[in-house]
Amino acid sequence: MAKVKSKFVCSSCGYETAKWMGRCPNCNQWNTMVEEIQEVKGNRRVAFSHSTKVTGSDIKAVSITNVKSEETPRIETRSKEEILE
Ligand SMILES: [Zn+2]
Repeated sequence: MAKVKSKFVCSSCGYETAKWMGRCPNCNQWNTMVEEIQEVKGNRRVAFSHSTKVTGSDIKAVSITNVKSEETPRIETRSKEEILE
């Protein structure tokens, strides 16, 4: 699933922030923050890492982590995950 993330970039100095601001904190210009939408797709590199694999939901990622520390093998968790998908 594609994850859409937006950020705000100052059109004057290029300062980036996660939330909109009326005034750029970097160059102090008003109304220069422009929203930019970034679509973060299932990045191959990210997909190999369990901790950052949030294609399903964040909740799922958390539960996997718990299982991993309480129970056993990483391999077990991994195969379970593959079946789920
Ligand atoms: Zn600026």
